Amino acid sequence: MEQKLGELKSRLLEVNDLNSAAALLNWDQSTYMPAGGAEARGRQMSTLARLAHEKFVDEEIGTLLDDLAPAVRQLDADSDDRRLVEVARREFERAVKIPSALVAEMSSHFAASYDLWTRARPANDFRVVQSTLEKTLDLSRRLAACFPGYDHIADPLIDMSDYGMKAATVSTLFAELRAELVPLVQAITAQTPADDGSLKRFYPAQQQLDFGLKIIREYGYDFERGRQDITHHPFMTKFSLGDVRITTRVKEDDLNEGLFSTLHEAGHAMYEQGIDMRYEGTPLASGTSSGVHESQSRLWENIVGRSRSFWEHWYPQLQAEFPQQLGDIALDTFYRAINKVERSLIRTDADEVTYNLHVMMRFDFELALLEGRLAIKDLPEAWRERFKTDIGITPSDDKDGCLQDVHWFAGPIGGAFQGYTLGNILSAQFYEAARTATPAVELELPRGQYGALHGWLREHIYRHGSKYTAPEIVARATGQALTIEPYMRYLRTKFGGLYQL
Ligand code: ZN
Repeated sequence: MEQKLGELKSRLLEVNDLNSAAALLNWDQSTYMPAGGAEARGRQMSTLARLAHEKFVDEEIGTLLDDLAPAVRQLDADSDDRRLVEVARREFERAVKIPSALVAEMSSHFAASYDLWTRARPANDFRVVQSTLEKTLDLSRRLAACFPGYDHIADPLIDMSDYGMKAATVSTLFAELRAELVPLVQAITAQTPADDGSLKRFYPAQQQLDFGLKIIREYGYDFERGRQDITHHPFMTKFSLGDVRITTRVKEDDLNEGLFSTLHEAGHAMYEQGIDMRYEGTPLASGTSSGVHESQSRLWENIVGRSRSFWEHWYPQLQAEFPQQLGDIALDTFYRAINKVERSLIRTDADEVTYNLHVMMRFDFELALLEGRLAIKDLPEAWRERFKTDIGITPSDDKDGCLQDVHWFAGPIGGAFQGYTLGNILSAQFYEAARTATPAVELELPRGQYGALHGWLREHIYRHGSKYTAPEIVARATGQALTIEPYMRYLRTKFGGLYQL
């Protein structure tokens, strides 16, 4: 068994290396690559994706997994080797169902589509991407069709990012959350909005970047194993457990943008940096689901980074950095400004209360597009209508409408959005568990210390990587299944205080 396990791990390591090389090309495409590199880069990434896929679905890996199955069943249910073989088997069985040609076609299509989107969005021209997006929908349906026997065509796509979740379970959960959120949004937006004018003054980019870096260093993001660069759409990427990078974007007339993007992506990166080094190069060495991943970014961005205790420590330093912009602004005014609730156009800028309404809308569009109830050509108009109903305002153009998010232009339609709301729900559930188990978590915040929180997250979530599924991690860390209650308690306490509800 030892020898076969060694053979399996070395084959999986090669697959991992090819995927990491593709991730590096992708990072470069989004940061430093000159525009002229786009076409060749798409081909290169497609070649790597095809090679990685071919190596992974090799018959030899199937045989090794078959041979190892009875042996690992003798091991403790919690053993790393047993879990590794089980996770590899699950991913192998998924991968063999997708033809290599489809993998390559998707990879080169998504690279070309991303490139078009970076031009269509600033030009506010949906027609530039319409036929490409039609092809994306077709590819997404073909991808789902590789997994016959589903209840809903979106199920296989959702399962790829949030294993075990289905369109029906997500829809039920979202309906439950929506019923709680809508009255809260109405009660808050009926009041005078917070004044966030102080955040819209002029803040030089480099000073903003430096300040964000200072905070995430204190959070525990390890710069010996990471770095931050600038992109259109902030993201985190990993080439190994020793190299987990983040990107951000800065606006000189909006302090929110760069700072909170940095805190968000650092949350994702700390999860990956916290994975047990023994899992390096194996399928266990990445976060377990998009929902759990997003819970970590939202926890550090919002629950910590937009809390009053956090700013008790950081605000005097921020004022010292920007005396002309913030010298006359009291901490409470600033705290209200960074937590302003309003009906707004852009998901990534949305406040904590309205944010999930943006996500639910996209999730429903994904279902409608995949089912064929909505055609791509009708998306801009459908977006405007739905936005009016759900958020209460209408985007005046597609740039701030259906062209705003990168997801459908860089990957399949389906499975891309539910993780954001699952992440918000889980961020509060994990934080409540951490705070209850370790009171130091809360006591440290006003002192600018995060060791107790970071330690709890590392112990209960990070170090396990994908060893446990999302439902397992949630149950182990919080003692219960995913529930919206801690999240609603969190929102009601925080925004109830801010808006005297
Ligand atoms: Zn995120």
